[in-house]
Amino acid sequence: MSTARAALIGFCLLAVSAAAQNAELAITNARIYTVNPRQPRAFAMAVRAGKIVAIGDDVSRLVGPSTKVIDAHGLAVLPGLIDSHGHVRALGTALETLDLRGIKSEREIAAKVRDAAAQAKPGEWILGRAWDQNLWAVKEFPTAKSISDAAPNNPVALTRVDGHAIWANRKALELADVNGATKDPQGGRVMRDASGVPAGVLLDNAQVLVSQKIPEPSPEQIERRILRALTECARLGMTTVHDAGVPQSDIDAYHSLVAKGLLPVRVYAMIAGKSAALDPWLARGPELGDYLTVRSIKLVADGALGSRGAAMLQPYADDPANRGLLILDRAAIRAVAAKAVAKGFQVNTHAIGDAANRAALDAYADVLKGPNDKRFRVEHAQIVAPEDFAKFRKYSVLASMQPTHATSDMPWAADRVGPARIQGAYAWQTLMKLGVHLPSGSDFPVENPNPIWGFYSAVTREDHDAMPAGGWFPTQKMTREEALRSWTIEGAYAAFQEKSKGSLETGKLADFIMLSDDVMTIPEASIWKTHVKLTVLSGKIVYQE
Ligand SMILES: [Zn+2]
Repeated sequence: MSTARAALIGFCLLAVSAAAQNAELAITNARIYTVNPRQPRAFAMAVRAGKIVAIGDDVSRLVGPSTKVIDAHGLAVLPGLIDSHGHVRALGTALETLDLRGIKSEREIAAKVRDAAAQAKPGEWILGRAWDQNLWAVKEFPTAKSISDAAPNNPVALTRVDGHAIWANRKALELADVNGATKDPQGGRVMRDASGVPAGVLLDNAQVLVSQKIPEPSPEQIERRILRALTECARLGMTTVHDAGVPQSDIDAYHSLVAKGLLPVRVYAMIAGKSAALDPWLARGPELGDYLTVRSIKLVADGALGSRGAAMLQPYADDPANRGLLILDRAAIRAVAAKAVAKGFQVNTHAIGDAANRAALDAYADVLKGPNDKRFRVEHAQIVAPEDFAKFRKYSVLASMQPTHATSDMPWAADRVGPARIQGAYAWQTLMKLGVHLPSGSDFPVENPNPIWGFYSAVTREDHDAMPAGGWFPTQKMTREEALRSWTIEGAYAAFQEKSKGSLETGKLADFIMLSDDVMTIPEASIWKTHVKLTVLSGKIVYQE
């Protein structure tokens, strides 16, 4: 071989290896909060093959002609946010349901229905919520006519703002066999015209005449709703969502979306413990993937505090005959937990009241016996008896909490439980000081899914008008660093994924976001107004403002 030729080959090899070392994506001029304690801050980051290959002051050595460079112009970059407790399909359903809140005329609502009908298939139901005729010029119940004209080929059912009435169109009334011969059911009323023909509005128990005809969504609709919800999550800066309690139909939809390469957010799915899917999953074992992981079981031990369904050790302060309802007791939770441990599944139990928290913690203790790495979780952990906090630590149980629940519930939570028990409510610092892992979430669509709003609630314990000033039970507030960790590395830990995500460091997945403002330094009152400008998943832009 001639020297010239050898030199040429050598040059080519060099060029190839240089190209292979070039980043596909580089972020420069950024205020990067890494959530890596060994290197908390950085200014630049380089990504190749979906992973971070360099992060630090300068990554220009990895920038080549094919590298896409994003100049952050000094904006804040954070790890992609992880919502550790949301309901994905329910969010999609809510997004597909027409939001009629505050609309000031029947005509405007009919126009919304017409738009929806133009996009729906013939026969597909159009649903809406929160209309209120008291906001209209004529403050009377509407009739079916306007929304029948707007959607002649689609059944329409619109729920009133208080949930006590459905406004249906002709197609829906036909499908429900509601006609002049229909009798008012017990506790309900069919509004009628002068000749006795149903006019369109069904009150209270009469609503079921129509609502029972709304079919279960098809696999195609489920997939569409999930995609819609996750697209919204990506827009809000989430790169992983823990879906808290899914049936097999949702997992099927996830598989389909993963196969098509369409998932804009990674999903950690908890199998609904009461669904038929549980036993087959226990038999086959967990499924671990980059985009979808199924390795946990969601149990529900009680109801919610607002409706006094949360199971309490002592009666409600504002309802002395009532202790709520324990849906699963210690033995029932223990039975599932024992099977889960044997098969490599994590157990995540919804527990809001102190009796439900105790049932879950004691059941876990029966199975786990002491410190462990099974990472069992209590979802919500809202009201915990003082003597039970230590059990989280003792049995290595995670408290998966939702900061916005505290700021939504604060006007009435103390009425429900009284002055003593409220001390053990939404007690983030009490748990964190014990060394308990505390992943944060929103419980969307129960609460708004915006994780920046959750971050704001966590660090202020105030509403968006900055009330109560100084925060509600302020000693339980999180610092910004703690709140950031709870939305990133703690969420990753809660899914056994802290080695691949939750912080920005070399070798981890390139999941990150860029924000309009630096939530780590701006005045507290401005935090919730911050929005996401860019969401990147595996080095690919999944949302850009
Ligand atoms: Zn939930």
